[in-house]
Amino acid sequence: MTTFIRGGLVVGPVSAQPLDVLVDGERVVALLAPGDTSLGADLAASADRVIDATGKYVVPGGVDAHTHMELPFGGTFASDTFETGTVAAAHGGTTTIIDFAVQRTGERVQDGLTAWHEKAAGQCAVDYGFHQIIGGVDDESLKAMDELVDEGITSFKLFMAYPGVFYSDDGQILRAMQTASSNGSMIMMHAENGMAIDVLVQQALAQGHTDPVYHGLTRPWETEAEATNRAIMLARLTGAPLYVVHMSAKQAVSVLQANKDEGWNVFGETCPQYLYLSLEDQLAAPGFEGAKWVCSTPLRAKAEHHQDELWRYLRTNDLSIVSTDHCPFCFKEQKELGLGNFSKIPNGIGSVEHRMDLIYQGVVDGRISLERWVELCSTTPARMFGLYGRKGDIRPGFDADVVVYDPAGRTEIGLHKTHHMNMDHSAWEGFEIDGHVDTVISRGTVLVDGGEYHGVKGHGEYLKRGLSQYLI
Ligand SMILES: [Zn+2]
Ligand SMILES: [Zn+2]
Repeated sequence: MTTFIRGGLVVGPVSAQPLDVLVDGERVVALLAPGDTSLGADLAASADRVIDATGKYVVPGGVDAHTHMELPFGGTFASDTFETGTVAAAHGGTTTIIDFAVQRTGERVQDGLTAWHEKAAGQCAVDYGFHQIIGGVDDESLKAMDELVDEGITSFKLFMAYPGVFYSDDGQILRAMQTASSNGSMIMMHAENGMAIDVLVQQALAQGHTDPVYHGLTRPWETEAEATNRAIMLARLTGAPLYVVHMSAKQAVSVLQANKDEGWNVFGETCPQYLYLSLEDQLAAPGFEGAKWVCSTPLRAKAEHHQDELWRYLRTNDLSIVSTDHCPFCFKEQKELGLGNFSKIPNGIGSVEHRMDLIYQGVVDGRISLERWVELCSTTPARMFGLYGRKGDIRPGFDADVVVYDPAGRTEIGLHKTHHMNMDHSAWEGFEIDGHVDTVISRGTVLVDGGEYHGVKGHGEYLKRGLSQYLI
């Protein structure tokens, strides 16, 4: 089966060129200048399928390096399964996800990983890999880290927040970082000072402050900046590479930037919600409405001016990646668990479907270049987590994960508009994007075309990842 994508502007991390793309089976086999006849005089006539991309961008499929399908949290589960969440991802032009297998405090790492393989196998619309959450650092889990690297799980997430659930103390973090330093893997950090936050939460509740906005007010930027600094210092001490997830405070990124500039292997991601949504406009919505936007790190105050700084850090590569931290919960019966007590609201926002569109809007708005959009959403996540060579670019030999994106199109996000995630609301209700995902191809198979889903359950394969390709 050959596919010929002709007439488009092929956008990669360093260039945007008019090129035709020839796909054979699951791989890209050639990029051809328009009119190039070296592989035949009329490829459009001989190909099994022709996709006309005239006037459109042809970009590598998105790689979302941070999702939580079916995550157990706060007495419930994230509402997207691997099936529903990856279908939504496909609709939005994301053809690879890296989800987090979970070891909670008191559980065994290998049991958590086995459970994650069982949830995902045969269910996914797009390809998937795993990071491993280490929620209990001890001799056994450190040994498991070495074993997992051989199984293609080359990054481990630790938490400085959520005592009793996922939390690691500084000594545990140090030991896990020493292990990562010796086996070449990456430490991913949820950097918030959970001990301080829990005191602020108890004090707020004691004063009768129960509304969702207090979720943000009890996790001020200082708790993120302090934890980020501490994580970086521990990483420096051990030589482990560090990737700080879901950064929202400009002060935390500033610390990261300073250490990057000194040559340390420290990286950061942010998420669409921190670039567009705020404490005042969403989290402080009247009544219990703000629960829709409870996530950690929290949406921050517009008055503190984080958003422009985060966009700037994306442009200057002080932030390397935009992931979603997709962790959807329905409003009814899930977010509502926190009625009368904001600390019981399950943490998370659903965005896996909208990341490519939302960050493309940054191109339209003049905040980042077209090439940087592709780099932030596809190429860098692939390289950061050991998938480059298959994912993250359109080149001969790479998987044919291709999105035809229409810059003249329009996307209206919302529950009864563009919305395929398994949620009863959208955190992005009413957002409109000056662009549109037209066609989505995963390993040579058309998953989405003109808004119609053509994929099949189980098309998505497990990806055994290599070590980060940013390290020497
Ligand atoms: Zn986190
Ligand atoms: Zn997360």
